[in-house]
Amino acid sequence: MEFSILADSFNKMESTRKRLELTQFLVELFEKTPHEIISKIVYLLQGKLRPDFEGIELGVAERLAIGAIAKSAGTDEAIKKIEEEYKKNGDLGHAASIILEQKEQTTFMVQDITVERVYDTLYTIAKLEGMKTQNRKMVHIAGLLNDATPVEAKFILKLLLGTLRLGIAENTVMDALAIAFSGNKDNRKVLEHAYSVSSDLGKVAETIATKGLEGIEKFEIMLFNPIRPMLADRVKSEEEAIEKMGDEFAAEYKLDGERVQVHIEGGKVVLFSRSLENISSYYPDIIEKIPKAIQADNVILEAEAVAINENTGEFLPFQELMHRRRKYKIEKAVTRYPITVNLFDILYCNGKSCLELDYKDRREKLEKVVKEDEFVKYIPMSIVKNKNEIEDFFENSINAGSEGLMLKMLDKPYQAGSRGSYWLKLKREYRNELGDSLDLVVIGGFFGKGRRTGSYGTLLLATYDEDEDTFTSICKVGTGFSDESLDQLYQILHPKVTIKKNPRIVSEMEADVWFDPELVIEVVASEITLSPIHKAAKDVIRKDAGLALRFPKFTGKIRVEKIAEDASTNEEIITLYKGQKKVAHGKNLI
Ligand code: ATP
Repeated sequence: MEFSILADSFNKMESTRKRLELTQFLVELFEKTPHEIISKIVYLLQGKLRPDFEGIELGVAERLAIGAIAKSAGTDEAIKKIEEEYKKNGDLGHAASIILEQKEQTTFMVQDITVERVYDTLYTIAKLEGMKTQNRKMVHIAGLLNDATPVEAKFILKLLLGTLRLGIAENTVMDALAIAFSGNKDNRKVLEHAYSVSSDLGKVAETIATKGLEGIEKFEIMLFNPIRPMLADRVKSEEEAIEKMGDEFAAEYKLDGERVQVHIEGGKVVLFSRSLENISSYYPDIIEKIPKAIQADNVILEAEAVAINENTGEFLPFQELMHRRRKYKIEKAVTRYPITVNLFDILYCNGKSCLELDYKDRREKLEKVVKEDEFVKYIPMSIVKNKNEIEDFFENSINAGSEGLMLKMLDKPYQAGSRGSYWLKLKREYRNELGDSLDLVVIGGFFGKGRRTGSYGTLLLATYDEDEDTFTSICKVGTGFSDESLDQLYQILHPKVTIKKNPRIVSEMEADVWFDPELVIEVVASEITLSPIHKAAKDVIRKDAGLALRFPKFTGKIRVEKIAEDASTNEEIITLYKGQKKVAHGKNLI
């Protein structure tokens, strides 16, 4: 398929934010796409090459891309011109198209480029490892750009830089697939199920294109493809929980560790994080020890991996697990920072899905299939019937070092990929009026002074705006940092510095440096106030005012298991704002 068809569609999609229009463009594109490459098209639409859990990263550095454009333009002065264009509009893809437009008048294009060729080249670049990769990447990119029209070049660069932001939600892709291949948008539900159990939208697209709705209906869990996790709503009190859950439900400790989805068959074990990243390399101890506890041919389990004090068996805070996030010398971290694996669910067993089973039956099955030992445990659970019983169990859980309770309805299935009211979380109140912490995206930094010289002394943070797919500023945070965390944050953030502010960042406040919005950290605050400067939920509560956090403080938790899109949303901030006891009407503008 000619790449120009895809580039034209990208161009049209870039010009609108309206969901119905986007859906229509997608339907037209899918109808033109040969079935063998529809999965590739779906990945490219999302700015990816493969599903996230395969961990294939495209991102090429801006410098390298500028070099490749100059190489393709054929002159060294081109670098200056590109930088000028880039500064003007902040879009390197656009800058490339302008430079190459000038060149196009003087040279012949060599050959048409196809989607397959672009995809394969991007894939090769993503996979390049070892010596001199920068140079080899540049040669590959310049090769493509040589044959590309300006519009094609624009999108090739956006794909390479990870800046293709068409604002197409997964649901919109599924709407379009349902319309294009079954003639009815309502069939999206069936597609959603397939996506939730495979986390692979490309595969879902390929299945409906080649096998129709019938194929999608038969779609099953595949071992070693992660299942999208079920998430919980928050409640503030035991009363609210009883109101929502009824007379009798399960209460489990909410342990403060890392969620791990464990896939096991024979001796093979693969671990996925909450955001579906393959995290097997951080936990060689789980890989080694867990098969011994399993009495089934194959299973998918969910657990919280928690750091423990080996002498006392006590649970330690999540932060201890950070020591595991390293590429080298992991063995040392394994012995120094021991863990236990605390199972709370079973999603698949002996070739069959368990998602449709009630909570009760899943828990029973879990206890049958897994034998507890020193390392592998079931998460403590109790069936509770009234406020006192919840309170007692809550106390126990806090005393054991956990965050609070997860409350789960007994007669409900596992709802992969959705946050609903079958599971609720009741957390220990932080000592602040908001009553909960927020997970915010680090978008900018300010250089530290005095003891903080050489690190970012203050960070600019943002919430996620789901409608616009942007990150809106909500506060600056400069408290709560230890010397160690400042150092650690600098190491993580320094490589994320960008020359220009990422177009998805919405902030009037200027930072010393801008970061790609990727890192999520946990923050508590005393309250949420209206703000003329910050952009979170702008115009929602009051015209020309956004929401900001008052007295924000870093809790010390870097939420490595969350991606930026998992951060607290504007919707959540609005709910919290409205729920505050004393709403500060204007008087606390910050
Ligand atoms: P949070 O920010 O509170 O950790 P979250 O957005 O990651 O929440 P939620 O579904 O809201 O996800 O809260 C559940 C999280 O709590 C899970 O992702 C998991 O890591 C952790 N957890 C700890 N104990 C349990 C348990 N018993 N059952 C389910 N999840 C648990």
